[in-house]
Amino acid sequence: MFTAREYVKVGSLEEAWELNQKRTNVIAGGMLWLKMGNGQKGTVIDLSGLGLDQIQETEEEFSVGCMCTLRQLELDPGLERAFGGIFRESLRHIVGVQFRNCATAGGSVYGRYGFSDVLTCLLALDTWVELYKGGRIPLEEFAKMPYTRDVLVRIIIRKDGRRAAYGSQRNTKTDFPLIACAVSRKGDSWQISVGARPKKAERICLDGAGKTAAELAKEAAGRFAYGSNMRGSAEYRAHLAEVYIRRLAEKLEKEA
Ligand SMILES: Cc1cc2nc3c(=O)[nH]c(=O)nc-3n(C[C@H](O)[C@H](O)[C@H](O)COP(=O)(O)OP(=O)(O)OC[C@H]3O[C@@H](n4cnc5c(N)ncnc54)[C@H](O)[C@@H]3O)c2cc1C
Repeated sequence: MFTAREYVKVGSLEEAWELNQKRTNVIAGGMLWLKMGNGQKGTVIDLSGLGLDQIQETEEEFSVGCMCTLRQLELDPGLERAFGGIFRESLRHIVGVQFRNCATAGGSVYGRYGFSDVLTCLLALDTWVELYKGGRIPLEEFAKMPYTRDVLVRIIIRKDGRRAAYGSQRNTKTDFPLIACAVSRKGDSWQISVGARPKKAERICLDGAGKTAAELAKEAAGRFAYGSNMRGSAEYRAHLAEVYIRRLAEKLEKEA
């Protein structure tokens, strides 16, 4: 557990950004990942007074405030309707309900963790992040960026009519995933993201015209690099990725 000299519940994003420019200070989401670390921090910056704990839906998009919890994403009826259960399925395995009631969307996306179900799920959709100074950028670009000291304000998920499905495998319940796959489809355009390889999730786009789900899965799984760790070997992960992508593609084909 870390300790901190000060705690500030900020009144504006500008105040949060200014405080966050000091290297020893830290923004707190749900603090579930942060609390795993040790050492002394300067100021803990709390964004919970800024009204960023809502999911807003318009005709074009969903706007998820950085302080929304994973549980809010999991249960939101609008997200469920628009994307066919991908949020529920990707989040329900993360530790437990009490945990997901605390972990935030902002902390999860900012962290860009290699094991992240959240990143894998969001990459298969048309997702953007809104940074206080950096403005709106595609999540795919943000995922590859080095860590900066900007404030992640919102996550934007555009409604572009795509359908999506998610699958992951764990060696044991509540553990990190061994592999995480998300597949989305709009017409013949398929987007496939694979995380927990055990590297950070990445996304590829494929033209699925004239291809069976098995052909699509083979091609997609072959485009990612896999590694080994205590949870499984690279070969096993590559095999699982192909199986999951095929199953998810078949599910979306049936729905269509
Ligand atoms: C034991 C354990 C098991 C887990 N298992 C899984 C799993 O199986 N699958 C999965 O996907 N995830 C898993 N996670 C990750 C978890 O779901 C969250 O993603 C993680 O805890 C971060 O969310 P948080 O709200 O706790 O962020 P915090 O711990 O508060 O913050 C994380 C980082 O993000 C920064 N940050 C937070 N909010 C912002 C912001 N708005 N702007 C800029 N920076 C910000 C913080 O400064 C910090 O560097 C696990 C975490 C733990 C501790």
